[in-house]
Amino acid sequence: MAEDVHGEAPGGQNGAMEDLIPVFDVHCDSLQRDLDLAHDLGQRTPGHLDLVRGREGGLAAVVLVCWCDPLHIQAGEIGARERTARLLTQGHQLLARHPDQVQWVGNAQHLQAARSSGRIGALFGIEGGHSIEGSLDNLAWFFEHGVRVMTLVWNNHLDWIRSCRDGAGPGIPPGLSPFGREVVQTMNRLGMLVDLSHAGERSFYEAVEVSSAPVLVSHSGCYALHDHPRNLRDEQMKALADNRGVLGIVFCTPFLDADARATESRLRETEEYQSLRGSNPTGTFLMQAEWLQAQVKPLPLERVLDHICHAVEVAGIDHVGIGSDYDGIECTPQGLIDASCYQALVPGLESRGFDSASIKKVLFSNTERVLAEATGNRTAAATARLKSVDQEGGGQ
Ligand SMILES: [Zn+2]
Repeated sequence: MAEDVHGEAPGGQNGAMEDLIPVFDVHCDSLQRDLDLAHDLGQRTPGHLDLVRGREGGLAAVVLVCWCDPLHIQAGEIGARERTARLLTQGHQLLARHPDQVQWVGNAQHLQAARSSGRIGALFGIEGGHSIEGSLDNLAWFFEHGVRVMTLVWNNHLDWIRSCRDGAGPGIPPGLSPFGREVVQTMNRLGMLVDLSHAGERSFYEAVEVSSAPVLVSHSGCYALHDHPRNLRDEQMKALADNRGVLGIVFCTPFLDADARATESRLRETEEYQSLRGSNPTGTFLMQAEWLQAQVKPLPLERVLDHICHAVEVAGIDHVGIGSDYDGIECTPQGLIDASCYQALVPGLESRGFDSASIKKVLFSNTERVLAEATGNRTAAATARLKSVDQEGGGQ
């Protein structure tokens, strides 16, 4: 029998939630909608993930990501650190608006407390090291203000780490620069989880070698099933297992399947797709995502299960998790259309021969363990007090 989603105290009564397996989704982009489109994620909203649908789907912990599109920085609209700080401030405001539904999580004890009080545990993440603008002081500032995960690099190469994408110019190191190593070591000391989704292959290996804590690859799939640069090769998965880390399997259909990738690329070239315009880039993204989802035949859920099963076969049952990338992807797979649907994975995994203990590991416990190890005793995160972003204006 699955345990209650929020780990209720003995005798507690959470009704239908008792049947849900808890879910730790280690990557979602929904904060942008809260900030840019005034979608209050404490209520039912458009898009993929909010707290209401999360509860319905058994969401027990979620990494809310602050991602800053490098295009806007290049356009001189806003600095990366500042945009990231605004998203983070918005995240704290979301938590302050809905203390009954959600609470901030900075270490594994916080997550336990959130679960026993029946709330979703929210971690804050940064997607892309460009947000720290080359400064360890900025990294520390984000830590003090609640960030506990950083994806070292996004699709834009940095002068201290190479991304998995082509087109690295001169001045981009083949993997991590000495400063890049310092970033990883500083994150280990603070108790921030190192996330290597988007990292180039050599960057991945060098970061795993430097890191004294287990790492995440928060939202990727298996290269052996689809040779997309965002996916992990089998050798990388074995190295991740040696590091005690976790690969969060993504729901991003072009990463999971070659046909889905080709179909969606073709549709993105159409005039209809390209003429869609919202009031800002987040609005445009949502309109385009909804349009695209309506055009395609959804990718079967079985394809997500293929990636989970392959990762479990190669890395082992203790090293696979879930990183949907909800609200950061356009199309979602069949049966996983939004955050109310995570439990669809349960019968799917049962049909692939997983017992309930193994299913709980993949959906929740493996990532909880990485959080516990990375924020444990010898890190600042074990005891750090959260500074209020409101008092300092969150860098605005
Ligand atoms: Zn991403």
